[in-house]
Amino acid sequence: MVDFPTTRQEQILGWLSESPSLSIDELVRRLGVSVMTIHRDLDQLVRSGQVEKIHGGVIRADSRTRRTRALQVCRLCDAPVSERTQVIIQTAASEPLYACCPHCGILLMGEVVQPTSILAKDFIYGRMVNALTAYYLVGSSITLCCQPSYLCFGSEGDALNFQKGFGGRIATFDEAKVQLEAEHHHGCGGEHSVG
Ligand SMILES: [Zn+2]
Ligand SMILES: [Zn+2]
Repeated sequence: MVDFPTTRQEQILGWLSESPSLSIDELVRRLGVSVMTIHRDLDQLVRSGQVEKIHGGVIRADSRTRRTRALQVCRLCDAPVSERTQVIIQTAASEPLYACCPHCGILLMGEVVQPTSILAKDFIYGRMVNALTAYYLVGSSITLCCQPSYLCFGSEGDALNFQKGFGGRIATFDEAKVQLEAEHHHGCGGEHSVG
């Protein structure tokens, strides 16, 4: 229990210098005060321009760029989700699921019951495209979080052009899914629970 607001605020800033974001729950736990109190402290820090509140937590005010880069964690491998390669699976039943890259996204897909949409980031244009109709460049010389790397392209032409420079082979979603699931099962040997 930390009684003084200024002491708590200094403490919060101290923790934020070590990690880019903190959740409200974590602050409640660490400081032993109520959620209301945490919000009051954070509001003061926001007013003084030192932090920014995000959904359910707080980030340093100077880490604006990290906010989009590392806010989400891959549902499959726990890697931070890069905005450049993210895959988002929407379901009727729960919050959207994020994957770090198409490699994880396609594998994750197989575990999701009734996804309503699967969006992947086009590697060239940076816009979200339908992952099911996209093309994937597999095992090119571009290294991403997961190996082999799967790059997503909204059009086959873009994938082909990219292949000329960076190698790899092109797969549709279904082909990529079959390959990944086969590799995954006799791959690294790690147990992976399904469902
Ligand atoms: Zn991942
Ligand atoms: Zn990945």
